[in-house]
Amino acid sequence: MAFKTLDQINLRGQRVFIRCDFNVPLDAAGRITDDTRIRAGIDGIRHALAQGARVMLASHLGRPREGALTPADSLAPVARRVGELLGQEVPLVTDWLTRRFDVAPGQVVMLENCRANPGEKANSTELAQRMAALCDVYVNDAFGTAHRAEATTEALARVAPVACAGPLMASELDALGRALAQPARPLAAIVGGSKVSTKLSVLNALAGQVELLVVGGGMANTFLLAAGQQVGKSLCEPEMVETAAQVAATLSARGAELFMPIDVVTATEFSDRAIPAIKTLNEVAPDDLILDFGPQSMQALVERLAPCKTIVWNGPLGVFEIEQFSYGTRTLATAIAASTAYSIAGGGDTVAAINRFDVARQIDYVSTAGGAFLEFLEGKTLPAVKALEDRAA
Ligand code: ADP
Ligand code: MG
Repeated sequence: MAFKTLDQINLRGQRVFIRCDFNVPLDAAGRITDDTRIRAGIDGIRHALAQGARVMLASHLGRPREGALTPADSLAPVARRVGELLGQEVPLVTDWLTRRFDVAPGQVVMLENCRANPGEKANSTELAQRMAALCDVYVNDAFGTAHRAEATTEALARVAPVACAGPLMASELDALGRALAQPARPLAAIVGGSKVSTKLSVLNALAGQVELLVVGGGMANTFLLAAGQQVGKSLCEPEMVETAAQVAATLSARGAELFMPIDVVTATEFSDRAIPAIKTLNEVAPDDLILDFGPQSMQALVERLAPCKTIVWNGPLGVFEIEQFSYGTRTLATAIAASTAYSIAGGGDTVAAINRFDVARQIDYVSTAGGAFLEFLEGKTLPAVKALEDRAA
């Protein structure tokens, strides 16, 4: 990889500023409901501490207003959880840009929500310079925010004395690069979820690369509509029909396959009390909602995936949060888990599905990132990664 990594740098006694992605979900009482991102980021911190570094952790949490931090935006619960995982106290430092604070070698502190600093979102060089003055080494281990150019992710990488990637950042890029730069073929991509419009550029990019594109979830309905099928009251985007037709045309011009469901699970209401019905496409009635793939579709899909050597998955096939409509996503998750293909999956709801169906360990790489994962799939340059590469050039 074309940037420095943390393990290449002597950290003894150095002030090390690690940009983490500890933007974890909290419940109403401020308790962390899923600490996956914190656990994923712990290796880099351990490494720096073991080397005798003076460690500062930075992260954003939620969407605070700049210059107006409220208690709900505080990283206090995150600092506590990091401390539990490390087995050492992690003090929270507030007003860290204006107040002097010391960190001893082997000590780690959590800097309060970086997104509350004026200039963070605007990628202010002036703000980055003030942060650079706090450290000898800047580490970006926040792949989840690598698609955003902000002061702690981009400008700081340009002005810090030394800038490098942390182990999570490096392993995310390595896994995604392996899947997409020179993938073992056939390459299959499954793109599901709610809407075509949110994943349009991903679909376009994948249509030019894969041997098999599976469209699922709400967006499959738009593709069905484009193919002349009735979708009743289903979630769909008629204004995206043309776009869906183009994706289909790109695939067919390349001799690649577009997979759409042949039977579906419908209901007349979107609720956990809804009564499911399995229907062929021709049986979908005007007041039906298509909420999942049916058994024939899943059997055909599992057969299509069997010869594939690389499988990329983003987006559930149905409303997996409701038991009656979880069959397609569960069957897909299980099939990917059992497959010998190199498999990677990412996306907020996709990861929730993977955890729900308990297959995380059997998937080769589960990305902790949502937006950055999708932008990587699109072939976009991630600004935070580019900044690290430019420093190494
Ligand atoms: P990810 O976060 O993994 O990128 P998305 O956010 O795009 O995924 O979409 C996930 C959501 O899509 C889920 O909440 C799921 O219930 C919903 N969904 C899936 N299939 C359908 C469908 N047929 N109709 C309506 N919503 C759907
Ligand atoms: Mg989502």
